[in-house]
Amino acid sequence: MTAVRIPGQPEVADGFLISSHPATGAEVGRFPAADDAAVAAAVTAARAASAWWVGIGHAQRRRRLLRWRSLIANRMTELAEVINREGGKPVADAVVEIAAAVEHIDWAAHHAKRVLGHRRTRTRLVTAEFSGHLEYQPLGVVGVIGPWNYPVVTPIGSIAYALAAGNAVVFKPSEYTPGIGQWLVDTFAEVVGEHPVLQIVHGLGDVGAALCGAGVDKIAFTGSSRTGRAVMAACAQTLTPVLIEAGGKDAMIVDDDADLEAAAEACVWGAMTNAGQSCIGIERVYVLDAVHDAFVTAVVDRAARLSVGTDPTDQLGPITMPGQVDVIRRHIDDAIAAGGRAVLGGPAAVRPPFVHPTVLVDVPHDCAAAREETFGPTVVINRVADIDEAIARTNDSRYGLGGAVFGKRRAIAVARRIRSGMVSVNSALTFAGFSELPFGGVGDSGFGRIHGEDGLKEFARAKAITYRRAPSLLPTTTFDRTAADVARIVTAIRLRYGRW
Ligand code: NAD
Repeated sequence: MTAVRIPGQPEVADGFLISSHPATGAEVGRFPAADDAAVAAAVTAARAASAWWVGIGHAQRRRRLLRWRSLIANRMTELAEVINREGGKPVADAVVEIAAAVEHIDWAAHHAKRVLGHRRTRTRLVTAEFSGHLEYQPLGVVGVIGPWNYPVVTPIGSIAYALAAGNAVVFKPSEYTPGIGQWLVDTFAEVVGEHPVLQIVHGLGDVGAALCGAGVDKIAFTGSSRTGRAVMAACAQTLTPVLIEAGGKDAMIVDDDADLEAAAEACVWGAMTNAGQSCIGIERVYVLDAVHDAFVTAVVDRAARLSVGTDPTDQLGPITMPGQVDVIRRHIDDAIAAGGRAVLGGPAAVRPPFVHPTVLVDVPHDCAAAREETFGPTVVINRVADIDEAIARTNDSRYGLGGAVFGKRRAIAVARRIRSGMVSVNSALTFAGFSELPFGGVGDSGFGRIHGEDGLKEFARAKAITYRRAPSLLPTTTFDRTAADVARIVTAIRLRYGRW
C-alpha cells in the first residue's frame, strides 16, 4: 500500500527529501537528505573553506558577494518562480522578498570592513603609553537553520552578514523549501567556486539538531519559539553560541489622530501579506475608541477585496504548512466561542489549503487568537479607551518582535514604549527591509540581532590588542612599581577624576 502524500507536506523517502506544492501537491524536487556523518563532513569542509575565505580579505569577499547580489538581482524572476512553485507564495510577494534580500547582501558586502575592520582606540590616563587596537574577527563556521515562510530573506539575513564577516556557512533550509535553499547555494557557488564557503544540508528537524552538535562556532536559528528552545538546549551542551529569531504576535496601535485610510491599508497588508504567514505580521490591532468603527470598516472594505488562490497573480496563496490550517481554525473558533465576532470571514473562511481574509473584533484578551501566533490571514481588532491601555495590551505578551503605530502627535513616544525589537510608525513591517537597522526580538521572540552593524557583529568576535609605545609613567601592571609610583597613581587619579 502506498502512503497518501499530503500536498505540501515534506517527506523523506529512499534517502531523499521530497518537496511539493502546498495546494496542488505537484512534486517540486528531491534533495539528498543528510545524515549525521554528512552534516559533520559539511562542517569539516566548511572549516577548511573558512580559512581560505578569511585569507582573501574584505575587498575580495566584497567583490564576490556583490557578484552574487547582481546574479540574484538579474535572475530574480526565476527565483520568484521557484518560491511560488515550492511555497505557494504569490510571485509579487516573492519579488518583494527577493528585493529585500538583495539589499541586505549589498549592504553587508559594502559595510563589513568599516564595521568589523581594524581601528585604533583612545587610551586612558593609566594606559597612556599603550595604543589600543580593535577588530572583529570571524567566528569560523556558522550554522544557519531557516524557516519556510520567508525562505530567501530570512536565511540571507544571517548568511549574507555571516559571509561578509568572513565566516563559512552550513545552511539547513526548512524541509518545506529545500529547492529555494538549493537555488541560493548553487548560485553562490557560481561566484565562489574555489571552496565550499556556503554549503547546504537537507532534511527534517533532526538534521538541524545534528548541525547544532556538529562543532560549528555559532548557530543562527530562525523558526518557532518551541524549536528555538530545543536549539538552545542542544547548543548548551557544547557552549555553542546561538542567535534566536523566533515567533511573534505583533500588534498595531491606531491612535485617534491617525490617518485611518493609511492605517487600514497598512493593517491589511501587514496582517495578510504572505497569507499572514509572517513572523512580524500584524496579528492584533488596538484602536482608540473614537476611531475604532471607522477603522474596522476601512479594514474590512480592503480585506474583502483580496484575491485568494494558486494563480501567480492572486494576492493570497495557500497555507504552506498543512498542519497550520488547524491552528488558524482553532483560533477563529475559540475567539467566536468566547464572544468575539467575525466581521469578515470566520470559520467558513477556512477552506484548506486556503484561508480567506478574516477580521475578528471584540475578542477577549485571553483568547488564543489574541495571544498565540496564528500565522494566517486573520487579524483581531480590539477597542481601547486610551493610549495607555493600547500600550499595556500590546506589551502583555510573551512575544516581542515588531509592531506598528499609526498616529501623529505622540506616535514616536508610543513606539518607544512598545516592548519589541522594532516598530514602524505610519507603515507596517518596513523595518525588515532596512539594511541599516537591526532586526530581532525580546522574550519568546528570541534574542540577538540580524541586519545592520549589530547583524555583522553577531557573526564576529571582538579582538582587543594593546601595544606598548613607551615606558610607563604611571606603572600599574608590574611588580617593579615603587611606593612613589603608587603615590603618583593616587595623585593622578584624584586630580583627573576626584573633582565633582
Ligand atoms: P520551525 O521551528 O518548525 O522550523 C525552523 C527550522 O528548524 C526548520 O529548518 C526545521 O527543520 C528546524 N528544526 C526543527 N526541529 C529542530 C531541532 N530540534 N533542532 C534544530 N533544528 C530544528 O519553524 P517554521 O515553521 O519553519 O517557521 C515558522 C516560524 O518561524 C514562525 O514561528 C515564525 O514566526 C518564525 N519566524 C521568525 C522569524 C524572525 O526573524 N524572528 C522569521 C521568519 C519566521
